[in-house]
This record gives sequence, structure tokens and C-alpha cells, in this order.
Amino acid sequence: AATMPAPAETRIIAVSNQKGGVGKTTSTVNLAAAFALNGMRVLVIDIDPQGNASSALGVNTNSDVPGTYETILKDLPMAEAIVRSTSIENLYCCPATLALASAEIELFPLDDGQTRLRKSLYEFLNISAKNGHGFDYVLIDCPPSLSMLTMNAFSAAKEILVPMQTEYYALEGLEQLVRSIYAFSSRLTHPPKLSTILLTMFDKRLNLAQDVVEDVRTHFPKETLETTIPRSVRISEAPSFQQTIMTYDPNGVGAVAYREAALEIARRGA
Ligand code: ADP
Ligand code: MG
Repeated sequence: AATMPAPAETRIIAVSNQKGGVGKTTSTVNLAAAFALNGMRVLVIDIDPQGNASSALGVNTNSDVPGTYETILKDLPMAEAIVRSTSIENLYCCPATLALASAEIELFPLDDGQTRLRKSLYEFLNISAKNGHGFDYVLIDCPPSLSMLTMNAFSAAKEILVPMQTEYYALEGLEQLVRSIYAFSSRLTHPPKLSTILLTMFDKRLNLAQDVVEDVRTHFPKETLETTIPRSVRISEAPSFQQTIMTYDPNGVGAVAYREAALEIARRGA
């Protein structure tokens, strides 16, 4: 198999799209698993109150365990919230619990309400690196809105990855999202860059889907990955078994596609 190069410094990637159901969570957990299975040390931060990434990774999302909420609002060191994946080595998760649902309102009046995740994440990464357990990738699964929680993800991230469903109005939504990302980022000291667009739920039998892929490539030639993720029932089944596609159906089209996408992201660099 092709080998995956490790990044020189930690790549912190916010997986974001203001629309729900476009494959953010699916892409976050499956790319994370693909990186980890290639020997990368990977942290998934679940900052969506729905906690779908956490449960897909088999991590407890009950309010009695500490998670992203406590690290950004209660000054809990991130190391104390992070849980190791039981099925994949080198894969860690900072879980979203129900407590995160109130974070939006609590962050709003704070002066540093948009940069709290950045602070706790960088502290954690520095300690990990000093102890010789540095991370290669941090993937942040964002909620489907440009909310305070998403702003925290953008402030912490160096890159933004936008998954989008291969459907008719995709490009319009994408251009709107890109404008919003830049409007927000221009106010940050360390603005992230939109590095990657990943087309998901691609159905190659539909001419329309082919057209959408071409359109997106024409408008965002540098950002759009060559790899597209096919629509596959197996991909949608995996989370109900608390697994990623990488262990649920490792030889199926979904795992192959996410493995290729991860390799492409690794090779292209930040
Ligand atoms: P988001 O996080 O953007 O809301 P999800 O990743 O949760 O989106 O995906 C929305 C739904 O679509 C989920 O039920 C998921 O299992 C399903 N899904 C995601 N990617 C695929 C795919 N490639 N093929 C089939 N179903 C998919
Ligand atoms: Mg989601």
C-alpha cells in the first residue's frame, strides 16, 4: 500500500458546512480513522452538541462524562476529557455531551468567547508534544451553522475542510459559505484557510452529479480533492455499530474512497 507522509507540524482542520446532512460527521470520523490506521496520531474534537462524531467513534456522550463543553467553559484541561478509541490505535476523541447544547448562550457574552477552544487545544498540543506524544492531525466536527461553536473551531483551526453533497444547489451554497468563512476569518489574528473541498454522496450514474463535480472543480481547482466519496449504504450503517467504515467494511467502496481522500490530503500538505 502507498505510504502516508506525516505532516511536519500538527494539522488542525475544522470540518464545516452550514448545511446539515452533507457528510461533515461521516467525513470527520472516517478520515480520522484512515489517518490513524496509517500510523498518524489523530484527535477528533466533537464540537457539535448532537455528539454524532463521538458516538460513531464509540465514545460515551452522557452528560456525566467531561467533554468539549468542560474544556471550553470550565477550564478543564483537554487531556482530562479526551478518550481513546477502543477499536483503532492512535485515535482519540474529545467528546460532545448534551452539556454542549448550552455552550452557545454561555460563550456569547464572554470577551474570549470565540477563542476558548484554541486556548485549551494549544495547551494540550504543547504538553503532548513535550511528552513525545505529539499529534499529526486534529479534526474538529462542527455543527451545521456559523455559530459561536463553529467560530471556536475556526479560531483553533489552521485549515477548513468543507464536505459537500453532490447535488444541484451545491455550488451556490458553497460560494455563500466561502464568503462567510472569509468575512469571519478576516477578524481573527490567525485566520484558517479553506484548504479542502470534499464531494460526498456522489452517484456516478447521475449526469447531474457529474456536472456538479465539474462546476465545483472549475470554481475551486486547488481546493477540490480528486477523490469523491460515493453514496453507499454501508457508510451510513457503520455509525449504528459505533464503528467507522474503516473497520465496519474495510474493503468496501466507502473505506477505499476515504482512505484515498486521506492520502490525498496528506500528500498535498497544508
Ligand atoms: P452532517 O454531519 O453534515 O450533518 P452526516 O455525516 O451526519 O452529515 O451525514 C448525514 C447522513 O447521511 C447520515 O445519516 C450519514 O450516515 C449519511 N451519509 C453520509 N455520507 C454518506 C455516503 N457517502 N453514503 C451514504 N450515506 C451517507
Ligand atoms: Mg454532523
